[in-house]
Amino acid sequence: MSLSRLARYGLSGRVLLGATARPLGSLSCRKRPELSLTQTSPGLASVQSRGHQTMMAAPLPVASCRVSAVEARHEERLLEVVWEDGDRSLYPYTWLRDNCQCPDCTLQSAQARSLLFSQLDIHTGVQKVQVNDNNQVSIVWPDQHVSKFELHWLRKRCFSLASRQAMQEELFINERIYWDSKLRIPTANFEEVLNDDKAALDWLLALRRIGMVYLRGAPSEKGQVTRLSKRIGYLRMTFYGPTWQVQDKAMAVNVAYTSGDLSLHTDYPALHCTPGVQFLHCIEQAQQGGESEVVDGFHMAEVLRREDPQAFQTLSSLRVDFSDMGKDYCDFMVHSKNHIIDLDCEGQVSRINYNNATRGSVLDLPLHQVQEFYRALKAYVDIMNRPTNVVTYCMEPGDIVTFDNWRLLHGRKSYTSSTEKRRHLEGAYLDWDEVMSRLRILRKAVGGEDEH
Ligand SMILES: [Zn+2]
Repeated sequence: MSLSRLARYGLSGRVLLGATARPLGSLSCRKRPELSLTQTSPGLASVQSRGHQTMMAAPLPVASCRVSAVEARHEERLLEVVWEDGDRSLYPYTWLRDNCQCPDCTLQSAQARSLLFSQLDIHTGVQKVQVNDNNQVSIVWPDQHVSKFELHWLRKRCFSLASRQAMQEELFINERIYWDSKLRIPTANFEEVLNDDKAALDWLLALRRIGMVYLRGAPSEKGQVTRLSKRIGYLRMTFYGPTWQVQDKAMAVNVAYTSGDLSLHTDYPALHCTPGVQFLHCIEQAQQGGESEVVDGFHMAEVLRREDPQAFQTLSSLRVDFSDMGKDYCDFMVHSKNHIIDLDCEGQVSRINYNNATRGSVLDLPLHQVQEFYRALKAYVDIMNRPTNVVTYCMEPGDIVTFDNWRLLHGRKSYTSSTEKRRHLEGAYLDWDEVMSRLRILRKAVGGEDEH
């Protein structure tokens, strides 16, 4: 199943991706990383999986957009639409009036509501409903205003739980494929992603669902992460500048700018709105060492929730102080309070915020919670450090790794540089809103899908 099919139909559950690649444990940095997939051109190789998985879930049936009856249920103030396939949809009168698509109520050029809320009668009745000759649902309101709704537009907005879930999945692509050390990192060609819409769409879909895509074949010179960000929109500025150079620097303003080990972390939890997506471009690799590591932080959080519910509760409810200060793009003194595991309103893990280097010495907890906090964090870090969970790879000049910084934790082994081979990565951030915006535009361009 291709990733785009996978994205279109959604997964019916949280999936652990078990793949067939060899373990990477003893990988030498001088070898080409074992993460390459059989390349299909253009775009991504499909990710193979086995074992427990539901990726082959039946595609959603194409909903009929033909109507066999419409009925105004005045007592409930609901419009009932009976579709030809037998399904029924109910639409509140108030919502229909609020979303009238006529030029008086909607600014067509912006697809934005021009009807003022103060003009909306939230107790409106309906005078007449019919399906007109243009196959639209036509409503005459008591003040004689007329609204016409396209059938496919209405059907997609059905208020049933299943329809709402399908629409939310289409809009936000919330399903994730979880993985461990057996992940075969999806790989695409840098130039194809820049030039081919289908390749770019596959890249962003895999970035969203798997959390990580490797791009190969970029020039080994600065400026490539900027080019890649322009493919999406624009990059995210921070105190480290629009792009930043990961090198061993004297008087380093960040532990990344040394040659030491970097333990698994997310970037920039010292900000409240942490960067959503990260690009790292290898311009020069070290003489020795410098291998990269990643883990699936969402998956690890679910393992923690299962193995140690108390620790999960602690890390998702207590807020921890992070701080970062110094001078780079300009001088900065940032400080944040974040949960190490952020949950959304449904209790799903939505973001990991953890960097041991910038975890502050200010710990705003009552005394009796301090030891429990350390115990919980150790439980989480121990899970993410298990060799069965960590993917190790080594970047070579021209490689760009793109990953979800809200989900993955990444690290680096220490390295030694020589004067002629000085390790150099260029990095940049983007935010998920901009990435998802491009993803939706590409999906429409490639798939020819209906507008919402
Ligand atoms: Zn109107």
